[in-house]
Amino acid sequence: MSKEAVKVLIIGSGPAGYTAAIYAARAGLSPILYTGGQPGGQLTITNDVENYPGYPDGINGPQMMVDFQKQAERFGTQIHYGMVTSVDFSEYPLTVVVDEVTKVVAESVIIATGASAKYLGLPGEVLYNNKGVSACAVCDGYFYRGKEVAVVGAGDSAAEESTYLAKLCTKVHLLIRRDEMRASKIMQDRVFSTPSIEIHWNTETEEILGDDNGVTGVRVVNNKTGAKSDIPIQGFFLAIGHKPNTDIFKGILEMDETGYIKVLPGSTKTNVPGVFAVGDAADKVYRQAVTAAGTGCMGALDAEKFLVAKELEVA
Ligand code: NDP
Repeated sequence: MSKEAVKVLIIGSGPAGYTAAIYAARAGLSPILYTGGQPGGQLTITNDVENYPGYPDGINGPQMMVDFQKQAERFGTQIHYGMVTSVDFSEYPLTVVVDEVTKVVAESVIIATGASAKYLGLPGEVLYNNKGVSACAVCDGYFYRGKEVAVVGAGDSAAEESTYLAKLCTKVHLLIRRDEMRASKIMQDRVFSTPSIEIHWNTETEEILGDDNGVTGVRVVNNKTGAKSDIPIQGFFLAIGHKPNTDIFKGILEMDETGYIKVLPGSTKTNVPGVFAVGDAADKVYRQAVTAAGTGCMGALDAEKFLVAKELEVA
């Protein structure tokens, strides 16, 4: 196994990881960033990003991530393509194994592994990804203004996304698999009091319908009666939850019951000294590119402070 030593190791290449890299590199900490399996993260599967400040005309998601990478490299970040497969934080310095072939010994680690939206597993989700299928209403809703859409899910995200979309779209079909919502009462009340949201109870998605231009409808089935029907829509939004990409840290870092890494409030510090968590891996509420970038900056500043204190300890 080859060996690498580094002051700041960053795991993940979304807005949080690259922002941490920009700050750590500019602080002279020569960070190494491992991209993970989806270099660029969730934004690489988004068409246009219009809510990131500084881009008055919007920017294409993949291009934005190329720009983030270039900015991180400009200040000396080494970007390595590879997937962290295991970590050992029981001793200091910290050890991370990449692709079972490289052992990285790090004085600090910034975790920016993000989260992935959950999908239903239907072929249409892949076929019409970015052509009518989206897992982020705040990111993509604007493209469906004046159109009819469906949202699947019954939690706070589904409630929030349907009320958000209801302001832009002519009609929102909310597809709920049970006869009740899991969302908080206040969010449910908002859904129930929005006339342009039609709730379809006990309803499961069977197929996403479409043509060369994208989504044209959704075939649903009522799981009580077995009745099938087609709803004409142009946008299909998934809001059935996210899964943080934190499996390799289970049993090592403190997490909540759904796998989001716990950080000390107002910081990015985890329960292991020298390990910091930023972006969606530690944020189940906001989950925006700009908030991820913000916490990426915090992670680099926290790591820098930690390293300075460590040096003073040794001196
Ligand atoms: P949740 O896990 O809370 O809800 C997921 C929803 O998706 C459930 O209603 C579930 O149905 C449904 N679902 C799951 N799988 C399927 C499937 N295969 N087919 C159909 N429906 C499915 O996720 P959220 O993203 O809504 O919320 C995550 C966390 O973030 C929560 O703690 C939430 O409170 C928080 N949040 C807070 C917000 C706020 O306060 N503003 C906004 C958004 C999220 P079922 O109920 O039948 O299991």
